[in-house]
This record gives sequence, structure tokens and C-alpha cells, in this order.
Amino acid sequence: MSKLQASVTVVINSIAQSKKAAGIRVYNLSAGEPKLVTPKIVRDAAIKFIEIGDIPYPITAGQPELRKAAAERMNELYNTNYTAEECIITTGGKFGLYLMLQYLLGSSSPLKKDPAEKLGVIIPAPYWVSYPAITKIMDGKPVVIKTTEEGGWKLTPEMLKAAYTPDCKILLINNGVNPTGVIYTRPEMKALMDTANELGLLVISDEVYSGLVYTDDEYVSCGSFLEYKENIVILQSASKTFAMTGWRVGFMLARKDLIDALSALTTQSTTGVSLVCQHGAIGAFKHADEITNWVNATMKKRRDVFVEAFKEHFGIELPLPKATLYVWTSLASLGVNNMTDDEFCIRALEEANVATVPGSGFGQPGYVRFSFAADEEDLIGGVASLAKFAKSLN
Ligand code: PLP
Repeated sequence: MSKLQASVTVVINSIAQSKKAAGIRVYNLSAGEPKLVTPKIVRDAAIKFIEIGDIPYPITAGQPELRKAAAERMNELYNTNYTAEECIITTGGKFGLYLMLQYLLGSSSPLKKDPAEKLGVIIPAPYWVSYPAITKIMDGKPVVIKTTEEGGWKLTPEMLKAAYTPDCKILLINNGVNPTGVIYTRPEMKALMDTANELGLLVISDEVYSGLVYTDDEYVSCGSFLEYKENIVILQSASKTFAMTGWRVGFMLARKDLIDALSALTTQSTTGVSLVCQHGAIGAFKHADEITNWVNATMKKRRDVFVEAFKEHFGIELPLPKATLYVWTSLASLGVNNMTDDEFCIRALEEANVATVPGSGFGQPGYVRFSFAADEEDLIGGVASLAKFAKSLN
């Protein structure tokens, strides 16, 4: 993350905190988490385990029952064929990605001929801010490909080929894209996987928003291209689809040697995910359809409330995201032409008490990301306040 991006996020957070401390109502349209209470079924499963009272160290790769449940759920929903041994439980999806990049970009990487080599990781922008940040922490080189609004914010095989250089060994793709809300069709994803294969790239596919698709479009997991399974890694998480962000339970699905390497790294870092949280997640998988349908329906309603409020107050139709928790739009579309996205987001918070995230944090200046994961009161109040602020700028 560049120093500037880090500082804008810090500035926004610290303004929000000091406002809250002063008793001022802040409308939070920035958080990437469903504002929901974790289902009782999940809490009960964890409590039942706590009550037994025997809470030892976990098995580093995760409880076999949870690994199996996570792999089977992927197979059932997305036509993949993972086994429990091809799945590891991690401390949130983010730490799974962290470990995977630590291994793949480190000196024991199976992708390196020379341990000192610096590998390139191809990342389409706008991107989730952690992709380039973790890549840099692991001493890799982020190779960013800018997608465009005209191109529907999608990466194409042509763009991938044009950006490729021989030091690039990994494509890090997000489907159910944070921040644009885009999902890829099967032909589009197949074409990308074919090209990644031709270029010899290992694909890390971040699929944490797979349960948050609001249309009838098929959700296409990269893991469903079985012919390329060897070179595909899937990132999944209980955070969004089970309303379990704070439990920190994530999943990595990949060929066994990669999972074993992550397990080895886990032995020297966290030792594994808390058994209490794993038991909560086991409970969630037992009621997976029920929970995900509820989260999905609630978030879809919030998306529609948000977009409707925008139409009412701004008189504009925002692009309707097919997936994720975000609406992504340009400042120009909001009638704001006289400031940067960083300035807009800081001033929106200072003057209208609305927290949003500037596009520059995602590698795309001039845009802003709104999260509709907040409760409806925040969404409606936030849009009204933002509209007043935006009008005052002209
Ligand atoms: N990937 C994307 C695109 C995300 O937006 C997030 C969270 O915001 C994550 C991964 C990680 O989620 P978690 O670490 O909660 O599993």
C-alpha cells in the first residue's frame, strides 16, 4: 500500500472515531462486512463446545470435520472436486492469502528456479487493497492491470497477455469483485483460465463473495475448470456468507502439496484457528443454505434500499452491482468535478458524517466505493446527508 493510501484510510478512521467519541452519529458506508448478528445456530454450536470445557490446541490445518464440510460445500455449489485434504482452515481468508503468498513468493516457492528470484503477481485493478500490500510484504512485485468502466471493469485475455512478463508467475483474481460488484461469466472465466494456463501462471481466485450474488447469473468458481486444478488456488471465507466476520474463519482450497506447505507455516505462526470458532463454523455448514439465503436476501434488500435512496436524493441511477456488498461509481457521476476522491471522502466524513472509501485505495482514483452492508437506517440517513453535502459543493 502506498503511504498516501495508508494515510487516507487512517485519516478517515481517525475522524470517524473522534466524531463517535464526541457523540456524533456517523453513517458508515465504508465497512466491508454485513452488519448482522451471527446466527444463533452458529453461536449455540460454539457455546456448546465451550461448555464442554476441553479446549486444546487445534490441529494446525483445521478440524477434519470442518475441512470436509468446506470442501463438500464448494463441490456441491460450484462443481469443484476438492477433498478435505485439499482444504485448510485459516485465520480468516486474509491470513490464508497471506500464508499462500508467503509460501509462493518465498525462498522455498515451487514457482522459483532461483530462491532469490523476485516474482511478479498480476493483479487487475480496481483491486482489494490487500493484494498489492501483501505481495509487497512478501517481496513480490505487483503487476497491476487497469480495467475500465467501458470494459465493464473486467480483465480480458488480451489485457493479461499484454501485461505478462516472464517473471510473472501468479494471477490474483477476484470474482465477485470488491469494489466493482462485477461477476465473470463462464466463457469469460474459461478464456482467462486458458490464457493463464498458456502463460504458465498459477491462479489464486478470491471467491469470498460467491454467496453474495443477487441475480440468476451462475457463480463461476475457477475450481470448476478441473483441467487446470493443479494450478488453481481458491480463497473462501465464512466471514461474509455466514455473517461471521469477527470469528476469523477462512478456507484455502488447492492441491495437497500447497495445503501441506500452508499447514507447516501455520505450525510456526498461529498454530491454527481457535476451536471455538471452528465449532461455530461447523454449526454454520450444517445450516448453510438457511444462513446464506438469509444473508443474501438481507443484503440484496439493502442494495436496493441504497440505490433507491440514491435515486430519490441525487436523482441518478447508480450502477446496480450483481454481487458483493458495494456500489462503485465515479465522482463525476455524482456531479462532483472539483476535487480528488481522497478529498471527497475526507470532506464527506467531516462535513456530512458519512464514511466512504476513496477509489485511489483500490488503485482507481476518481471513484468512490459505498458499502450497502450497513443497516437500512444508516443507508437512508447516509445518502440523505451525502446528497446535501454534494449539492453544497456546486
Ligand atoms: N477478499 C476480499 C475481496 C475481501 O473484501 C475480504 C474482506 O473484506 C477478504 C478477502 C477477507 O475476508 P476475511 O479475512 O474476513 O475472510
